[in-house]
Amino acid sequence: MHLPSLIKRHLRGTSAGTSLRLSHHHWIALTVCVLLIGVVFGLTAPDAAATRSPTLIHMDNGSERIALPLPLPPGDSRLPSATELQPWQALTVKRGDTLTLMFARNGLGGKPLQELLELGKAIEPLAQLAPGQQIKIKLDRAKQLQELTYDVDEKSLRVQRVQGRLQAANINHTLETRPAYASGVIESSLFQATTQSGMSDNMTLAMADIFGWDIDFAQDLRVGDQFAVIYQEQFVAGEKVRDGTILGAEFTNRGKTYRAMRFVDENGQVSYYTPEGLSMRKAFLRTPVKFSHISSRFSVARYHPVLHRMRAHQGVDYAASTGTPIRAASSGKIAFKGVKGGYGNTIILQHAGKYSTLYAHMSAFARGIKQNGAVQQGEIIGYVGRSGLTTGPHLHYEFRIGGIHKNPLTVALPKAEPIMAKYKPAFIAQTQRLIAQMGVFKTNTQVALNAR
Ligand SMILES: [Zn+2]
Repeated sequence: MHLPSLIKRHLRGTSAGTSLRLSHHHWIALTVCVLLIGVVFGLTAPDAAATRSPTLIHMDNGSERIALPLPLPPGDSRLPSATELQPWQALTVKRGDTLTLMFARNGLGGKPLQELLELGKAIEPLAQLAPGQQIKIKLDRAKQLQELTYDVDEKSLRVQRVQGRLQAANINHTLETRPAYASGVIESSLFQATTQSGMSDNMTLAMADIFGWDIDFAQDLRVGDQFAVIYQEQFVAGEKVRDGTILGAEFTNRGKTYRAMRFVDENGQVSYYTPEGLSMRKAFLRTPVKFSHISSRFSVARYHPVLHRMRAHQGVDYAASTGTPIRAASSGKIAFKGVKGGYGNTIILQHAGKYSTLYAHMSAFARGIKQNGAVQQGEIIGYVGRSGLTTGPHLHYEFRIGGIHKNPLTVALPKAEPIMAKYKPAFIAQTQRLIAQMGVFKTNTQVALNAR
């Protein structure tokens, strides 16, 4: 039945002489029709708004992100089963809060708290409250606890009064992982741009980590640099609980575009590679220590006018406070560990191929570091100090190729190993899917931008 046309027919009149002179029965029918229309529209309107088509959210800076609307999760709108129940109250956890403090603050310190604590191990999640979380409770008129819910990510604690006694249940919800896309242009700072694109600070740091071998995020960024990231978000019952991992990313720095794709090998080792399968990492860290400044640079041998002898500085001095950890620039074998004249406490590492690195003036060696032992890239081998001939605490660092000293600040560092041949077909297939997926996100973004 088509309601509007039915009403029109009534208003026009269906037989001669009755037009606009509606009988008592007609008025009732009309009223019912209007009410029905109201009901129908009332029911359908919110449904229509909650379609599952992706929505593009425009940010002020021209960046955008795609949101997939979801049906609202079942809320706490259940009707009270008995009239004496009070509505749900949400208690928010403050810094330093405990369950006892929270209940006392809300006037529930006596019997309600006692009854809850008697549930023992079943309410263990309430022992690890974090600021900002909420405990929802429902009391009856006599201030007896009837229900309690506490949700943290995919875990829920449900306490309910059944036949006069509280019972607790811990529920593990299914964690759903969905891809998300964020892109933007840097206008003032990296974090300003990524935040506007909807990325969390953790995601931003993860992205900087991936490209950190090629781009110095502290010094190299320029206005106009662009990024695009496809990453995972984890949901419980339609609500985002946390970020997952970055699947693929693109960063354009000063006109040069870098791309990184994630791959997990059969041992669970996660690495990022270029779409061609080359490692995003270098085989060597550019700097093996977090330093305050470079106190002496590399210089080739030259005749010293005062000392009247040849003098050169065959490494770089990184000034840092005593005790700052020193890391192995690359994986390798400890070729020397000990005191080496004016170098003081020194370690020399022999790396794959013809590379070796030297670390001098250490205050101490790291525990477990042994002559001829193996070290991994980034592993702490010792600590900054001033042993040997120095004027202040610093790391003297040398980089040699085939026994010849190179400037550690400018030497072209070899890339880490590319993806293993046996993984390459799987990696290429996965990368093609990912690039296609990024393309779809990008196109949707562009279409929405043009429609603006
Ligand atoms: Zn030096």
